[in-house]
Amino acid sequence: MNENSSPVLSLVIPCYNEEEVLPESINQLTLVTNKLIKKGKISPKSKLLFVNDGSRDRTWEIIEEAAQQNPLVRGLKLSRNVGHQNALLAGLNEARNYSDCVISVDADLQDDLSIIEEFIDKYDEGFDIVYGVRRSRTTDTFFKRSTAQGFYRLMNVMGVNVVYNHADYRLMSKRTLEHLNEYKEVNLFLRGLVPLIGFKSTNVYYDRHERFAGESKYPLKKMLAFAFDGITSFSVTPIRLITSVGFVLFAFSVLIGLYTIFSKIMGNTTTGWSSLMLSIWFIGGIQLVALGLIGEYIGKIYKEVKARPKYIVEKLTYHSEELPKLQKELMSVR
Ligand code: UDP
Ligand code: MG
Repeated sequence: MNENSSPVLSLVIPCYNEEEVLPESINQLTLVTNKLIKKGKISPKSKLLFVNDGSRDRTWEIIEEAAQQNPLVRGLKLSRNVGHQNALLAGLNEARNYSDCVISVDADLQDDLSIIEEFIDKYDEGFDIVYGVRRSRTTDTFFKRSTAQGFYRLMNVMGVNVVYNHADYRLMSKRTLEHLNEYKEVNLFLRGLVPLIGFKSTNVYYDRHERFAGESKYPLKKMLAFAFDGITSFSVTPIRLITSVGFVLFAFSVLIGLYTIFSKIMGNTTTGWSSLMLSIWFIGGIQLVALGLIGEYIGKIYKEVKARPKYIVEKLTYHSEELPKLQKELMSVR
């Protein structure tokens, strides 16, 4: 293959308090990238872009040091912690300025880097989106495995289209990223958004490793919040469910009414007390749930209406002025 025609690839790696794994991640990612450059699969202009998501440890120092010594490495520092999804988007938006395709990957080396070559092959075949899909979850704890599987099932029931067992390890072409940026929503759930873009996509399968070092930045609380966000950002099924429950309750209360009149005629009214108490509590509870749920959507609307910036870039380890030049070079290559 002619070297000029090989695509410029960027790997985007969001990092939050990853000082324990980062040096090893940088090593391994550099090895993989250099191998692909040597093979002529990707352009020598390919880069690794590390996004520091407001880490409180030495993560940014490690990135800055690496950027000075390693020509592949670039760093982007966000002004504060904005969460995995927003940090990833920040990296994707930066990298798309100078790349033909971008792969997002976690800093913890859980995703098998050897399939990056397959990602590129699929891109060369004309796929705009390539999803990395976990073949099995044997390395995850039982708890993580079952909660994650429950999550995918729930998403499906709620009518949200997500790729089963795919996290955020994926390749996207430049034009996919450009369109991704047209989705202006603030409640970001990339796994739900990317399939909506609709370009030609395919899956690549891999086995997930254990975290190389450090601990998961997604404790149960964050995971539940993430799942809940995913559902309420994409689906109105919960609201419809509540409406159906309302109808069922209405039918039920008609029956209760008939029963009450019947008991009154028969003269057994004292027994009505328990059913009355029960109904009051039951309906009260349902109403609260419904109100809470509606509140959740109103909260989302409130956030969207404000349209606040999703992240703020504080620093780059390179000059953004070199971007227009790089872009021109890219245009002449493709
Ligand atoms: N991450 C981030 N911001 C956060 C939380 C996590 O950028 O607020 C990054 C983290 O550094 C890692 C990736 O997101 O590269 C996935 O996090 P983690 O591996 O802890 O999640 P898990 O694999 O346990 O689901
Ligand atoms: Mg992980």
